[in-house]
Amino acid sequence: MASTTASSVIDLRDLRLDEARALLEHDPTNSLPDPQDSPTAYLQCIIGNLCELSLKDPLTGLANRRHFRSVLSREIDTVARSGESALLLMLDIDHFKKINDSYGHLAGDQVIQAIARCLATCVRPMDTVARYGGEEFAAILPNCPASFGQIVAERIRETVGALCISVAPLVSVQVTVSIGGAYAPEWVRSTAALWTDRADIQLYRAKSEGRNRVCIDQQPEIAVSAEEKSMLFGHLLMGDPAWIESVSSDPSGAETGSAMNRFN
Ligand code: GH3
Ligand code: MG
Ligand code: MG
Repeated sequence: MASTTASSVIDLRDLRLDEARALLEHDPTNSLPDPQDSPTAYLQCIIGNLCELSLKDPLTGLANRRHFRSVLSREIDTVARSGESALLLMLDIDHFKKINDSYGHLAGDQVIQAIARCLATCVRPMDTVARYGGEEFAAILPNCPASFGQIVAERIRETVGALCISVAPLVSVQVTVSIGGAYAPEWVRSTAALWTDRADIQLYRAKSEGRNRVCIDQQPEIAVSAEEKSMLFGHLLMGDPAWIESVSSDPSGAETGSAMNRFN
């Protein structure tokens, strides 16, 4: 019949689901419903669990780089639309190679896992912590005022440095991290690459200045003329006498209204 929907013609027996099921069965928390009860619910559950798996780093359970990239792009949109202050932190374990060399690769993995757990507890639920690469992590902190960034990053650095990580019976190690940070430029559409590059430069600076420290690139000052502001926001503020006064009263074009302080 021409009106038959796709869902009514899919038969689970025609799909090759064995590999997907085997992959999901590695994690005992991924329980699947009985396909006999509802084939649709079963298929939906497989799809949902696979999506979740594709966003996670297998060693730490943190967001992987793919997930990180998509959160970063979303955050760039939010910042460009709302002008909120968002901070990106890049973190790298100091002298991590020495851990592998002294205690073995498995001990190194345990250190990475312990730091991942620690980072996850250091941030707010709205923040995203990701494993960016081998012994590198990244954190996206939306809505983080410029005055808080350094404090938050220092708190993370100190908390990681205070951890005693057990890597073998009666053997525990302590490690430090270097942290580089950059704010997304407010009201301006940036790119994920530019934002991460700026944070990376600060991370490099933290390393070269001695490690176990935080370096944050302050938000670039953005000069926006009164005319540009009017084009951007005039329609929102039309009819607001304070706005009209503030734009029109200054012959130099540099408006002084408090509503636009965020640009200054
Ligand atoms: P720095 O302070 O300059 O960051 O020095 P570092 O020793 O931390 O950096 P380097 O880049 O020289 O070494 C990083 C090491 O991390 C090398 C690599 O073998 C190790 N590594 C990367 N991924 C993993 C992983 O998943 N598990 C383990 N155990 N080691 C890893
Ligand atoms: Mg590194
Ligand atoms: Mg390192």
